[in-house]
Amino acid sequence: MTQHPGNPAGLSDPHDIDLFEFARSGRQAAGVVRVSQLPRMLNEVPVEAPDRDTAFTWQAEGATQPELQGDGTEGPQPYLRLAIHGAAWLECQRCMTPYLQAFNVDATYRIVSTEAEAEEFPLDEDEVEVIVGSRQFDLIDLIEEELLLSLPLVPKHEVCPEVHESLVSGVAGAEGEGDEAAPDEAGEGAEPERPNPFAALESLKRGEPGDKKH
Ligand SMILES: [Zn+2]
Repeated sequence: MTQHPGNPAGLSDPHDIDLFEFARSGRQAAGVVRVSQLPRMLNEVPVEAPDRDTAFTWQAEGATQPELQGDGTEGPQPYLRLAIHGAAWLECQRCMTPYLQAFNVDATYRIVSTEAEAEEFPLDEDEVEVIVGSRQFDLIDLIEEELLLSLPLVPKHEVCPEVHESLVSGVAGAEGEGDEAAPDEAGEGAEPERPNPFAALESLKRGEPGDKKH
């Protein structure tokens, strides 16, 4: 899905869009957002990263799809498709140095009007997420949330860079037991189980049962 640069996105402010109108009129928008504009993402980027302020390109597209409604008639229901591409520096949990992690998100959302509607919505289709729309919808916030949900559970290099020569040749043990220095044992399959810090976000999105009580 490529955007034509000559076709202006038509969004004055992606922090404030009428999402229902956006879907109903099948509009499209695209833009670039930098990590420095996404405070929660920026938190994930190590200070020693070569470039903390990497960029993501995004494309959004509104659509409607006829669906059976509560009253038994068919009506056009609003949808949003969102694609995000880019990269951010994260800290490798194996060698503790920064590496560049690619992000490629392509999500489809059914837009509903209220939290209650979102909670009732049948989620039998895994590839469609449900979001509560608004007439002042913050698209950048949704982009940040998708990026956070796309963070790897255990960020790491595919292949860690070579350990510095001085650590390999001869001086092993100078720092003590050196149990960190056995790459074979720390390798595949030995990842520590770590709760995903963003699992809570995911359940918020889906409407946790425990969250309903007032
Ligand atoms: Zn590494």
